[in-house]
Amino acid sequence: MGVSLGGVTLLRLDQTGGPAFGNKYFKLQEYFREAKRQGVSRLVSFGGVWSNHLHALAAVGADLGIETVGLVRGAGDLGETAMLMDVRRCGMQVVPVSREEYRHRNDADYQRRILSRFAPCLLIPEGGAAVLGARGCKAIANHIQQRSNRAKRIVVPVGTGTTLAGVAAGLDESYALCGISALKGATDLEVQVEALLRDLAPEHCARWRIVHEYHCGGFARTHESLCDFILAFEAIHGIQLEPVYTGKMMYAVHQLRKSGEWSADLPLLAIHTGGLQGRRGYSWLG
Ligand SMILES: *Cc1c(COP(=O)(O)O)cnc(C)c1O
Repeated sequence: MGVSLGGVTLLRLDQTGGPAFGNKYFKLQEYFREAKRQGVSRLVSFGGVWSNHLHALAAVGADLGIETVGLVRGAGDLGETAMLMDVRRCGMQVVPVSREEYRHRNDADYQRRILSRFAPCLLIPEGGAAVLGARGCKAIANHIQQRSNRAKRIVVPVGTGTTLAGVAAGLDESYALCGISALKGATDLEVQVEALLRDLAPEHCARWRIVHEYHCGGFARTHESLCDFILAFEAIHGIQLEPVYTGKMMYAVHQLRKSGEWSADLPLLAIHTGGLQGRRGYSWLG
């Protein structure tokens, strides 16, 4: 599951999991367990038309025989994507939601209405971003400890910080975890991670920080030098990346080592969090 690229080991979560791969598989584990505990057989969540989270939810639900419902932002207007075709094939009920309605996804009132509309069900926040998601990601730390070849610097892409929080909670302070934010100006990420860590209340925790300089223009945006890097990386190493998370993470690793800010001698483990289904939304990736 690891592959070494000149001092950088890649933890291939894109190849790890069951019916779904990547960090979203880990983030979902505790939600499925909770649904079972509550005796509900329907899981409902939110996402966009290329959502890795809904893609994983549909696949795991199909595998376990649990109904899934995806509330998809702008689905009606944006047309069918390969992601939507996949989740429909898995039996997910796709419910188009206007951009206006989607803005209320985290409001308690709105969530109560969704809960009663699809009752009995369990509602998962967008991206699985809550303490249950983080708890599922603690298992990623076991993979790190088994495979890291002594690397104590761990790099992970960050959207909501849920994965980072879970991984940090599964390691001890001998590890330094560095998150690369995929979002522009997400200044409250550190607060979110701290809140998740408070809820997880781990006995040990890795040291961690978030680097905000490699969003490359904003969430899901790209620039030429990022695109060139991804194409070159894929050609040289034969490993696929996607531009939203893993491409930006590896781009940041490359830039930070090239500039000397990070020593090239320091062994490093980068977590490939998957998300490769989303490549299909970028025609330049072929
Ligand atoms: C969702 C996602 C992330 C970000 O995970 P968070 O827990 O939201 O920080 C990183 N990589 C991939 C491939 C993802 O799909």
